[in-house]
Amino acid sequence: MYLYPHRKSPRIDDSAVASDPRVHIVGAGPGDPELLTRKAWRLLRQAEVIVHDRLVGAEVLALADPTARLIDVGKRPGGKGYRQSEINALLCHLAGQGRRVLRLKGGDPFVFGRGGEELEALRKRGIAVEVVPGITAATAAAANVGIPLTHRGTATAVTLVTGHGEAGEPDLDWSRLASPRHTLALYMAVRRAPAVAARLIDEGLAPGTAVAVIERASTPQQRTLRATLDGLAALIRDHGVRAPALIIVGEVAALAADDALAALAPASRPYEEASS
Ligand code: SAH
Repeated sequence: MYLYPHRKSPRIDDSAVASDPRVHIVGAGPGDPELLTRKAWRLLRQAEVIVHDRLVGAEVLALADPTARLIDVGKRPGGKGYRQSEINALLCHLAGQGRRVLRLKGGDPFVFGRGGEELEALRKRGIAVEVVPGITAATAAAANVGIPLTHRGTATAVTLVTGHGEAGEPDLDWSRLASPRHTLALYMAVRRAPAVAARLIDEGLAPGTAVAVIERASTPQQRTLRATLDGLAALIRDHGVRAPALIIVGEVAALAADDALAALAPASRPYEEASS
């Protein structure tokens, strides 16, 4: 049983909470194994086959059963990652063989994780699926550097935005995003950050709006950089920022701890051995 059997509320649609799921689509969180949910951890240890992305770190994968088969769909040997259609087909194929399949994704599977596409493909073939949430990069990064994504009087809304559309610039209502007291958490935006910053300024966001860039949040390599919106492009260039990095735009970003403080954050301590 998955939801709360003692609660009498009517179920609207329980097809994502199947009673005997063949496939679990699970969020692995941002990197720190301590940020896995207990459920993700249990499923990780029980899975026979784990289909994971490049973003899922070695420390998390190390928690899998040693006999589990690991399939990295983020990268083929010497080449690019699998296409989404190939991943969907692989999941259906493995589930069809009667395997317990864990589809492990960085962060949360339903936040820029294409978990919805996989769920749809599996459902279409009548394969029972359960989705397990994970801590997404925005909340992990924000927590680690002391940026409240919402803050009374300073930020009354937060939007998770992709910096990368299917064909370059994402199709977004930039004027709405460029509104005051609004935090933007930009995913996949390192390369397009200069264009995004320019666009937000064009739409009226103050050039002096605070920005924080958090690279590899929650891992020992976490790095935090701060700038203002008009200095974002230079910051990224001068510090050689690389993906995965989360960019937070909004006055709350001014509250970020600087690197010296961030170094004291618990997440930047070496991982402790996970107890079982
Ligand atoms: N499903 C994931 C997002 C996948 S899209 C989630 O919920 O977090 C990939 C983007 O996520 C990266 O380009 C980066 O912007 C962000 N990201 C993922 N892990 C991150 C991390 N540890 N630190 C900073 N950004 C991260």
